[in-house]
Amino acid sequence: MNQTLITVGWREWVSLPDLNLPWLKAKIDTGARTSCLHAFSIEPFIKDDQNWIRFGIHPHQDDTETEMYCEARVIDERMVSDSGGHREIRYVISTHIVLANQSWPIEITLTNRDNMRFRMLLGRTAMEQRIVVHPNASYLLGKPAAIATKKNWENHNMKIAILSRNKKLYSTRRLIEACEQRGHEPMVLDVLRSYMEVVPSKPEVHFKGQALNAFDAVIPRIGASVTFYGTAVLRQFEMMGAFPLNESVAISRSRDKLRSLQLLSRKGVGLPNTGFAHDPDDIQDLIKMVGGAPLVIKLLEGTQGIGVVLAETKKAAESVIEAFMGLKANIMVQQYIKEAGGADIRCLVVGGKVVAAMKRQALPGEFRSNLHRGGSASLVKITPTERATAVKAATVMGLNVAGVDILRSERGPLVMEVNSSPGLEGIETASGKDIAGMIIEFIEKNAKPHKTKTRGKG
Ligand code: ADP
Ligand code: MG
Repeated sequence: MNQTLITVGWREWVSLPDLNLPWLKAKIDTGARTSCLHAFSIEPFIKDDQNWIRFGIHPHQDDTETEMYCEARVIDERMVSDSGGHREIRYVISTHIVLANQSWPIEITLTNRDNMRFRMLLGRTAMEQRIVVHPNASYLLGKPAAIATKKNWENHNMKIAILSRNKKLYSTRRLIEACEQRGHEPMVLDVLRSYMEVVPSKPEVHFKGQALNAFDAVIPRIGASVTFYGTAVLRQFEMMGAFPLNESVAISRSRDKLRSLQLLSRKGVGLPNTGFAHDPDDIQDLIKMVGGAPLVIKLLEGTQGIGVVLAETKKAAESVIEAFMGLKANIMVQQYIKEAGGADIRCLVVGGKVVAAMKRQALPGEFRSNLHRGGSASLVKITPTERATAVKAATVMGLNVAGVDILRSERGPLVMEVNSSPGLEGIETASGKDIAGMIIEFIEKNAKPHKTKTRGKG
């Protein structure tokens, strides 16, 4: 074989890619014959008629909180004696090791001895004729640069659930693609086909007859019509410790237009003047409050422009409001921002930053700019005030990812609504940016088990 010898110290960083372990500190132990990994919760199982094991690793020395789970085929079970003369039967697996720029398969035994300081011992057999050990030196190979941070380590190869009704939708497809490109394992779950067992201490989600294994993260793409059930499923995942891209409470609050505006106004975000009343006797005053006709009347839970009406005259406003109230529909009445000219600005916020923005222009004769209503999207440059407004709105709502819709008015940017499942097609097409990729990167940087962080309130 034509390979250069690798010179190592008595401890080095090594990588075990087959086990998805990007790096581990290993003791290079010429005194030991076999190599060994410090594992816990070792569980045998059968896969394709072969013996496999699943086991946990605490990858960082002195940190028993971070856990990684690995699976490997068992190639042997062997009696092994350690340096203290202690004998035990251990599982043996085969896996590639990466040292310097070389990689070769080695045999490793698994032990759960607590007194082992290093997560891994590299024994003589695994060194083959490849390694020269300098017993007085350490870390001669350095720490691999590309995988040098603890964050990267933890969020390598994540299991990501995408809650979506349809795999073929553009946004869902793009998120699957972005997961796969970065080595994660996406699974699309139709929320309406997910069901839950609500029992003390052990929340579970079931899907088509099976209890789902733990996910590292969940991307909710919950349609407005399934908000109630969808957020309940998401909440169950949160209780199981999965990191939600957007939290269930934040989604619920964003789905109620009035509740959203109340929260935004409290934090001083610019909004169109808005009124809300229950009794038909108060209609006159309500109309006056928002500055008279023309005005906009909105169903509180409408979406895609349906349930948004422009009343050009006071008479029209009165009849529409009366009609809605008669139907017991919850509505709000809003000042019409005429100078916006049938356009609004959609700012896509990911992790506290506007990553893309587009202008949506309504069809001639239409004031609603929704793409579903025939509006057209184009790239737009936003002002620093607009940017700050969008970021603040997403933060107040407690949304990590949000589509913030802004009207350009005479008194500056006014937030119209904050969308918790913004569509990706329009914004990726208009901006040419890989927004799905940015979303997955955000998850990589932020996903931690049992850490949901709601910043908004309500
Ligand atoms: P939906 O949730 O159905 O999209 P929106 O509140 O976003 O409801 O309203 C739909 C569209 O109607 C907006 O994109 C915007 O173009 C227009 N619109 C809504 N409110 C106003 C307003 N107060 N002034 C001017 N245009 C508005
Ligand atoms: Mg809208």
